[in-house]
Amino acid sequence: MTRRWSISLRLTAWFGGIFFLGWLLFGAAMWLNLKHTLTGERYLTLTRRAGRLEDLLTANQGESPKGRAQQFAEFAKATGNGLCEVYRANGSRAWPSPTPAAQAFPWPSIRNSQHDQFRQVRSAGEGYWVLEHPFSMGGENLYLLAAAPESGNQLVLARFLTGLLASIPVLLLISSAGGYFLSRRALLPVDRITASARSISITNLSKRLPVANSGDELQRLAETCNAMLERLETAVNRIKQFTADASHDLRGPISFTRTVAEVALRNPAADSDSRRALADIVEESAKAAVLLEDLLTLARADAVQSDAVLAPVNLAAAVEDACEMARPVAGERHHILSVALGAEKIVNVLGDFASLRRLVWVLIDNAFKYTPSPGRIDVRLTTSNHEATVTVCDNGIGIPQTDLPRIFDRFYRADPSRSQVEGSGLGLAIAKWIAEMHHADIVVSSVEHGGTTFRVAFPLFLE
Ligand code: ADP
Repeated sequence: MTRRWSISLRLTAWFGGIFFLGWLLFGAAMWLNLKHTLTGERYLTLTRRAGRLEDLLTANQGESPKGRAQQFAEFAKATGNGLCEVYRANGSRAWPSPTPAAQAFPWPSIRNSQHDQFRQVRSAGEGYWVLEHPFSMGGENLYLLAAAPESGNQLVLARFLTGLLASIPVLLLISSAGGYFLSRRALLPVDRITASARSISITNLSKRLPVANSGDELQRLAETCNAMLERLETAVNRIKQFTADASHDLRGPISFTRTVAEVALRNPAADSDSRRALADIVEESAKAAVLLEDLLTLARADAVQSDAVLAPVNLAAAVEDACEMARPVAGERHHILSVALGAEKIVNVLGDFASLRRLVWVLIDNAFKYTPSPGRIDVRLTTSNHEATVTVCDNGIGIPQTDLPRIFDRFYRADPSRSQVEGSGLGLAIAKWIAEMHHADIVVSSVEHGGTTFRVAFPLFLE
């Protein structure tokens, strides 16, 4: 699988890369400019030197050739490095070389041009600029050659290049840090939208994403998502309403069917086949009635605001009631039901008595259903300073670890083939809703084939 970079990392890389490339181009342009300027200066120096020598030689036309050679030698030694020569048009020297360096220098051949010529030569492994400057003296065309080493220029250029390269790591660091900072700032609203979107589920579809008044793409994205949530909420509400209406309206016909079947069963004239069929109808309509009741409970749960008005009730009494309902069933199924309600007779929590009893009943009923007889079911009520905890523990078939996160979902049944028990998968969803309504935490721990424990911790109502 290819690992994708986050947007901020990609923006940082782009920002750093573009900044770095721009800086490299700028550096290269500066380097070329510097090189050009330095070469121009060298050219100017040589041109000026040639001009001065020409002035000197032509100033006194009456000077003897020897005197002129003397003047030329003195001038060459006084200016620069003594690297100059004067040639005739036929390529011979007009005067002897002024210095040994000039004599040993590999002067290029004359080009006989009417204008100054500028070129490069190498001597003893070093580069030189050479100027060929034409002038005339006493009617004769002469060519002054003057040379200057490139080494000075190269030193400056090399230093510039070193500085340029040395600043690369610093520049990369600054540009990356700048890029990261800017991208984080730009993407901060995305993080906010993501966090909000993550907190929205089917239970709080009325929540909306924060919309920043920025007029940019992120504002449009948040508004579009909110419009989509609006549509989803409407659709889900319609489905909930349909479930509530359908389960409510079906209750009448189902209970009518059951009553009619029960009355018919009492008829002594009915033959055995009819009695069996009628008994099946009674049994199935009883199951359908329970399912409809559960559906209606959840449909109502969806409609009720989470902060419904609750009153102080005795949790110990609700647990005891549920256990009383469970005792005959335990006897029928040959289970041992052990109940330990603690020393406290009154354990007040803020809630609704019937709902609390139902919650405990769902847990005990499940323990009965998923524990092969004879099994052992323990129901305990314990209290601490701020909490009252109801624990229902069995030594039944347990729940596979992979199913544990989903057992509170509506209609979820952990592999029904494991226990030949019928059910709708709504019991724990109702239990969870009742727990949430009471601000209680419901948790489960289970070992497959080793038993299951449900714990519900309620905040105590302290006057
Ligand atoms: P059901 O109508 O199937 O009992 P519930 O919502 O009450 O629906 O439970 C969901 C699933 O959780 C059950 O189908 C069962 O697989 C598992 N379960 C619940 N309680 C227990 C328990 N005490 N022991 C083993 N499995 C359980």
